[in-house]
Amino acid sequence: MIRNPIPWPDGARCAVAITFDMDADSILHLAHHEQANNKVMTMSMLRYDPEVAVPRLVDLFAEFGIKQTFFLPAWCIERYPAAVELILEGGHEIGHHGYLHEHPNELPPEEELYWFDRSIDAIVKATGQPPRGFRAPSYRFSAKTLDFLVQRGLSYDASLMGDDIPYLLDNGEGRVVELPSHYAMDDWAHFMVARDLGYMMPIKAPSHGMDVFREEFDAAWRYGGLWISVWHPMLMGRLARAAALADLIAHMQHKGKVWFAKLEDIAAHVKKVVADGTWNPRVDRLPYYPGPIPELPRKPK
Ligand SMILES: [Zn+2]
Repeated sequence: MIRNPIPWPDGARCAVAITFDMDADSILHLAHHEQANNKVMTMSMLRYDPEVAVPRLVDLFAEFGIKQTFFLPAWCIERYPAAVELILEGGHEIGHHGYLHEHPNELPPEEELYWFDRSIDAIVKATGQPPRGFRAPSYRFSAKTLDFLVQRGLSYDASLMGDDIPYLLDNGEGRVVELPSHYAMDDWAHFMVARDLGYMMPIKAPSHGMDVFREEFDAAWRYGGLWISVWHPMLMGRLARAAALADLIAHMQHKGKVWFAKLEDIAAHVKKVVADGTWNPRVDRLPYYPGPIPELPRKPK
């Protein structure tokens, strides 16, 4: 099924990265700057992220002996240092996820770069090292984002959906590893209900969402894929879903030959097997087009 499978370390069948994006209330301030403080219920639901879910998840990861990756908007890193401390104490990675969850592809390039650099500074200050990887808020990777990743020396991106295994992004001046996921692996699409933010997904049992994630895992395990969840502590860290997550990790560990890894370690592995010639990945040259395709006439402004 996969024509060019990547050799995973130690003969593993697949790689698993249970990644969490801790957006907390950044998204509410972004969507409703003036009124955010008056939307108390939604604020409480979003603050469940650092207050309840992250402590629970780091305990869960410790129980299973795995280290994972958390993406945090840098504003959340500054606002919620105790959650950051727990993540770092657990040996987990903190990745770049914008400053206030701003959308890169809706900003002029200089503004995108301003927030990109401001976030790097905040991550260095909080963790002692620059981020190795990036996930664009709401997947809104712009035509310039790769340039900034290359210029600032990040090793990988985890925003795109172009394959079932890692591939490379090339802008003509450098390359970063792409560690792709897709919408079915995002808990938002399964569970997010927030009237103030405009999301009204039908309520479903944790097991129904988990069926999707488990079947995705079984296919990755069977064919040698890369399984990356794009989850949010306030959704998957809720009590019943966290219990279902524990069952899923147990299922994965029971199957065996699964490489649980931080994304920075997966990216490092990709670079290693490319450098030593044991694997030749697919390369996407970005941007895909220099502008709007010429076959359609541009509308006069
Ligand atoms: Zn996010």
